[in-house]
Amino acid sequence: PGTHHWLFGDQLGPHFIDPARGGPRRDAPLLMIEARSVLRRRRFHRAKAHLILSAMRHRAAELGDRVRYVKADTYREGLREAVGDAPVTVHHPTSHAALAFVRSLPSVRVLPARGFLVTHDEFKLWADGRGSKHLRQEDFYRWVRQRHDLLMDGDQPAGGRWNLDHDNRRPPPRGAADLGVPGPYRPRESEIDDEVRADLDRWSRDGDVEFVGEDGPRGFPATRREALAALDRFVEHRLPTFGAYEDAVLAGDATMSHSLLSSSLNLGLLDPAECAERAEARWRSGDVPLNSAEGFVRQITGWREYVWHVYWRFGARYRESNALGHHEPLPAWFTDLSPDATDANCLSHVLRQVGATGWTHHIPRLMILGSLALQRGWEPGAVTDWFHRSFVDGYDWVMVPNVVGMSQYADGGRMTTKPYTSGGAYINRMTDFCGPCRYKPTVRVGEDACPFTAGYWNLLHRHRGRFEHNPRMTQAVRGLDRLADLEELLEQERDRKD
Ligand code: FAD
Ligand code: SF4
Repeated sequence: PGTHHWLFGDQLGPHFIDPARGGPRRDAPLLMIEARSVLRRRRFHRAKAHLILSAMRHRAAELGDRVRYVKADTYREGLREAVGDAPVTVHHPTSHAALAFVRSLPSVRVLPARGFLVTHDEFKLWADGRGSKHLRQEDFYRWVRQRHDLLMDGDQPAGGRWNLDHDNRRPPPRGAADLGVPGPYRPRESEIDDEVRADLDRWSRDGDVEFVGEDGPRGFPATRREALAALDRFVEHRLPTFGAYEDAVLAGDATMSHSLLSSSLNLGLLDPAECAERAEARWRSGDVPLNSAEGFVRQITGWREYVWHVYWRFGARYRESNALGHHEPLPAWFTDLSPDATDANCLSHVLRQVGATGWTHHIPRLMILGSLALQRGWEPGAVTDWFHRSFVDGYDWVMVPNVVGMSQYADGGRMTTKPYTSGGAYINRMTDFCGPCRYKPTVRVGEDACPFTAGYWNLLHRHRGRFEHNPRMTQAVRGLDRLADLEELLEQERDRKD
């Protein structure tokens, strides 16, 4: 006893204080610091600020006398106020900046990371074993499945295939307004939520912090109990259709069959192993098709784990990558989440959703918001920062690889083999946005030109020299030669105002 253990705001589940898993002693006093400077530095979505503070304060209320909860301006001040120079332990934080900070303090001892399936040492073993080969996500995923015995029959993947992605690209059901599955779990607010909201109101009134977006009622779990209820609801009612419609988007059904568990996982309220195991159990009992169970297990144990380790492996300067030399600033209508500023139905709709909830599923992030930023040549660091602030589940470790690597191709292909972007044809196939839109997805020049179709060709043209050497892009780049109206298109994009 005596040594305090510090819990960051994304270390809120029981696995962060478990002595059997390398955590602090059962009687160790705990410390939490609510640092206002974090909010002051950038304009966050209000729903995100509300969720994080609510989750921290709920956790402190659960821990009762065992925790000292300090409200301070900075972490440094909070630590000084709570324990002075006395020794403190903390589990490995989740950003390069926070890790550098805790390592710079002689009184702080850093314990191994929690909240992920694969340890840093395990990942190193895998990555080093590959020599100079590309760290392919698919190879990593298969290795995780074997090593952690997930969806395996002996040494073979359950059902005979590792990846059922081909079964998971169905367009939305034609003519349907929604997928027809029970909605996701929604929490009931407590007095703590009201207190947090009153604090946010006061801080904005005083001009101390500035927010964007709407908050309330809270849409995402703030406690372990709520997060477990959300997991239950997902695996019991929503998982069966997760696989088939994973990439589909319907204007009238924002959540489709997605889990909405990212914020709970990233706050540390859920452990990824329990999520994957629950999905596997549902498949083994015959209640869920394999493409759904495998699809979900791949998101959690393939993508989420991979992104976490890539963040550390590629180092603190990875976030500055800008292989395509993109330097345009993000326009104010975009950062202000103003849906009426654009006539592009898909974009307007998704911006409205981000404003209202701080969340969209993967495809709107990648193929609408991210794709637009890439096509317009916006600065990848600023795009990362925008995503980080505007999404309830955004943290440095998860945003940097997803935005810099996956969505903006700013690392020149270290994470993905080709840029993720498309013209309106893909959006038309996978969503129901195009029908009512004032633009036409097949038109690239003139009044009806779809900004994504025109933007796609414009991007290929700008980076032709680089992309034509990428075997996965050669064919697309050759398509430029068949465009009789390319000059007109380039001029139109140069003059674009929205
Ligand atoms: P589901 O579709 O139900 O998937 C299940 C879980 O898999 C998610 O909860 C999440 O924990 C995990 N997952 C799936 N894909 C990824 C991925 N690429 N990276 C990390 N975890 C993944 N996810 C975040 O958690 N935080 C972010 O800040 C974030 N930013 C993103 C930015 C961009 C540009 C893109 C393209 C993706 C981003 N993602 C981020 C990944 C993914 O879009 C979200 O995890 C997912 O949409 C969250 O909704 P869900 O919980 O319903 O996910
Ligand atoms: Fe979006 Fe283009 Fe379709 Fe309009 S036509 S909804 S801008 S993809």
